[in-house]
Amino acid sequence: MSTQIIIENSILFLLLWAIIFFRYLLIAGAFHMYFYGIKKEINKARRISTKLRKTHQTKKEIIASFLSSGLFAIGGVFLLQIWRMDYSLVYSDISDYGIVYLFFSALLFLFLHDTYYYWLHRWMHRPSIYKHIHRQHHDSIATSVWTSFSFDVPESVLQAIFLPIMIFILPMHYSVVLFLLMFMTFSATINHLDIEIYPKNFNKHPIGKWFIGATHHSLHHSEFITNYGLYFTFWDHWMKTESKVYDQRFEEVSR
Ligand SMILES: [Zn+2]
Ligand SMILES: [Zn+2]
Repeated sequence: MSTQIIIENSILFLLLWAIIFFRYLLIAGAFHMYFYGIKKEINKARRISTKLRKTHQTKKEIIASFLSSGLFAIGGVFLLQIWRMDYSLVYSDISDYGIVYLFFSALLFLFLHDTYYYWLHRWMHRPSIYKHIHRQHHDSIATSVWTSFSFDVPESVLQAIFLPIMIFILPMHYSVVLFLLMFMTFSATINHLDIEIYPKNFNKHPIGKWFIGATHHSLHHSEFITNYGLYFTFWDHWMKTESKVYDQRFEEVSR
């Protein structure tokens, strides 16, 4: 590899690290300000966790998220290099596969990502694995928006590799890739908000019931062996790992 390519990739890596970390700070910060600042009074009754946050928890989460952002940036450099060399299935002309496929590829990616994460997550909860890989994320029993990117290094790697692998398997328009990156950030922020923002009976709605939100994921942090899903409740439903108190807790905190 020439010196110029090494310098170029190093600059790209630092740039992506900064972008990913500031995206996290910006989105998590905006949610925090709105739901715990502007809407503070309304949201007191919608708080899900019954536990208090530990001292210095936020600081620890932000430091872990800073390191995770760096690992996701390595995945980003790889992705951009592969795309630039035209080795991936990422395409730039929508008419190559058509508009229907554009939506289908986004939904299929989300389902496959959810499937990958559900089984990875169950594996990470094995006692012998947990302490090396998944402990940092569960250090937050009462979650916050800042928990959304707080992982141990091995977990960040296992999460960061999924998209760079998928660009060799599933053809996706570059706008779909950008949409997915934003979707992942918003979904992780909402799921760790610790305030239910979905409307009443969303957990019973024919479509709504398949989406994971703050109540669903908060119960994973407090119960530990339920609600392993990432975006959807399909796998928890099929594998009977959904929390028994999910519906009851959802009703209590939604309005
Ligand atoms: Zn977990
Ligand atoms: Zn979590």
